[in-house]
Amino acid sequence: MDFSAEEQFAHQLDGEDSLRHLREKFHLPLAKDGKPLIYLAGNSLGLMPKAARTIVEQELDDWAKLAVDAHLKAATPWYTYHETLREPAARLVGAQPNEVICMNSLTVNLHLMMASFYRPTKARFKILMEEPAFPSDTYAIKTQIAHHGFDPKEALVLARPREGGFTVRPDDIEAVLEKHGNQIALVLFAGVNFFTGQLFDVQKIAAAAQKRGCLAGIDLAHAIGNVPLALHDWSVDFAVWCSYKYLNAGPGAVAGAFVHERHATNREIPRLAGWFGNDPATRFRLHLEPEFIPVPSADGWQISNPPIFSMAPLRASLSIFDEAGGMEALRAKSIKLTGYLQFLLEGPAAGQRYTVITPRDPKERGCQLSILVHEHPKELFGKLEAAGVKCDFREPNVIRAAPTPLYNTFHEVWRFAKILAEHQ
Ligand SMILES: *Cc1c(COP(=O)(O)O)cnc(C)c1O
Repeated sequence: MDFSAEEQFAHQLDGEDSLRHLREKFHLPLAKDGKPLIYLAGNSLGLMPKAARTIVEQELDDWAKLAVDAHLKAATPWYTYHETLREPAARLVGAQPNEVICMNSLTVNLHLMMASFYRPTKARFKILMEEPAFPSDTYAIKTQIAHHGFDPKEALVLARPREGGFTVRPDDIEAVLEKHGNQIALVLFAGVNFFTGQLFDVQKIAAAAQKRGCLAGIDLAHAIGNVPLALHDWSVDFAVWCSYKYLNAGPGAVAGAFVHERHATNREIPRLAGWFGNDPATRFRLHLEPEFIPVPSADGWQISNPPIFSMAPLRASLSIFDEAGGMEALRAKSIKLTGYLQFLLEGPAAGQRYTVITPRDPKERGCQLSILVHEHPKELFGKLEAAGVKCDFREPNVIRAAPTPLYNTFHEVWRFAKILAEHQ
């Protein structure tokens, strides 16, 4: 598509945007001048859906009026509350409903998945991940390795960007797998890298891993709600995600996990269990010596009863995704919106002070662009904040800006690029 840097063109794109009404469904934080901030931080904490308040209030009312009876008699019974999230979440990750469970938080789910799917032996004990990885994932992985009595220095293998580059080349992932594959137990990659915004070819990575006898797990923190996914068809072994970034479910919202059907239905897989992973038919036989009988689906990894107040806002958000027509429709707008931002950042108005390190090919990125600022990055970031832009800063010198198709406009992208250019 041919873009233009004229302001009028941004208005034209907004006029043609069939999803523009969705912005009305969110609370937009205001800047000092009383106008909405240019909010490009949905990759960090998504905006609050207006419907979240109604749904949370409903749960508070049911608690006040019904107390313990709300488990079965609330408007949405608490005992099975997680079931209301299953199908919409499965649509977002391209899974069958029996492969998805919403529970816990992301890093906890990563540990639970590794308890089942990282079972190292002397011959096969390594984990391959990309660099730079999110610190929490690295902590989780290193402590899992140590927990099994191995040395993270030996067992953690990284696929790195080449000297002078920022993103990991697919051939290099293949090369590391070729070299270490027969010693690798688990390949754990991000769907979209948090720092560079690079979108990985998950299907290819899973196939390359499995060809060499490794399991493939994916961290979807920056991918869910950002790009279309097809975890079942891609044959990924497991995946985890959080719901407060592109899923707009609020701080610390309940996270999710995917377990491929071939594992989800296998009751023999070792796991860390709790009562909600047990077959509901025998869950309450507390007086007998209970034998754990896992539900033969991803539910078999659920440990505790559902956290209602951290699930309620997610219901509000997931219904907006459905209303949008799913990820394909959102992705079409997203490619245009981020493509437009890239065009403006590279256009005549832009200077030499920064480099966009996110891949240029839309197939290799989601909505986020990571802007490496060559001089005085913190100063520039401060100026953006003062001008009413909310994006984020990653040490030492990267500004991440994520125009999201649910609530950002083309005109906001235009204004952001203009502010950036003015503060060169
Ligand atoms: C945001 C993010 C997390 C956060 O983990 P929590 O357990 O939700 O606090 C972990 N990993 C990645 C890759 C992330 O982007």
